Amino acid sequence: MSPIYDRVALIGLGLIAGSMSHAMRRADLAGEIVGTARSPETRAIAEEIGLCDQIVATNAEAVEDADLIVLAVPVGAMGAVAAEIAPHLKPGATVTDVGSVKKAVVEAVAPHIPEGVHFIPAHPLAGTEHSGPRSGFAELFENRWCLIVPDENTDAQALDRLTCLWEAMGSNVETMDAEHHDLVLAVTSHTPHLIAYTMVGVADDLRRVTDSEVIKFSAAGFRDFTRIAASDPTMWRDVFLSNKEATLEILGRFTEELFALQRAIRTGDGDQLFDYFTRTRAIRRGIIEAGQDTDAPDFGRVAKKP
Ligand code: NAP
Repeated sequence: MSPIYDRVALIGLGLIAGSMSHAMRRADLAGEIVGTARSPETRAIAEEIGLCDQIVATNAEAVEDADLIVLAVPVGAMGAVAAEIAPHLKPGATVTDVGSVKKAVVEAVAPHIPEGVHFIPAHPLAGTEHSGPRSGFAELFENRWCLIVPDENTDAQALDRLTCLWEAMGSNVETMDAEHHDLVLAVTSHTPHLIAYTMVGVADDLRRVTDSEVIKFSAAGFRDFTRIAASDPTMWRDVFLSNKEATLEILGRFTEELFALQRAIRTGDGDQLFDYFTRTRAIRRGIIEAGQDTDAPDFGRVAKKP
């Protein structure tokens, strides 16, 4: 395939940007990939493993003459990065991001984007609990959704080009508005992460169950929670701080359901528990049928490294 963008700038060199670099290289989607990260340590690792064609020290250098700029930093850092790169953006360039929350990112980034530069937010629904420049791999986006969040003023050609890039990296693309995105993700990702963090925290607090018992006897349910609860603390702090409204809405509903199940257990209402679990089992079947996970017992996919 011929390159979709001549020069791509990756700002932040963690799991997502690293995976994009591998995926773009695999399919020859970018003429040149320039990368930068905040810390000299991350930049040095990226150099060492040859993650990009060029690693530069500053965000301003990275975006110079770039046709596509990808903001791949934690959600809370997007606004500051946008302000920093704004004066250096080439007219006609597209700025996108990969943040897990969209409304807050749009509010933080859009005001800095100069006239003549396109800003098209996006969110690949793909990830692992690993982070940093070594954690990326080309297959991460394969058969995963990428939600793109245009608005009524988005340039159709720029949107098509970004859609092509995500599709060529293996994603299925759908567009959505920012508010709806945040609600959907609160249900499918953000609240489940909070519940996993809580469950692992509860186990850790339970002094009657020693650490070694938690590890030695960890059954599938708890193991899956610990995998999710090992996700990057900075990223997830920012997700909750910036998707407050939708997460609190879903958590409220979750708490009500939990109380109902708690009462069913207390009163010995087996029928209610059985019916509830039958309904939830069907959701899992639907996810497998939609190709969004496998039926393998080890929680589906095992992350592959390049
Ligand atoms: P990551 O592996 O932790 O990498 C984050 C990168 O951002 C690093 O290069 C880091 O630089 C840089 N960074 C951190 N704080 C910064 C700050 N205050 N200012 C400037 N740069 C900063 O993260 P990731 O998993 O790739 O996530 C990147 C984005 O993708 C986030 O917005 C996240 O919400 C979104 N996302 C993540 C997943 C997932 O499952 N991980 C999935 C979809 C979308 P240093 O290494 O130099 O500190």
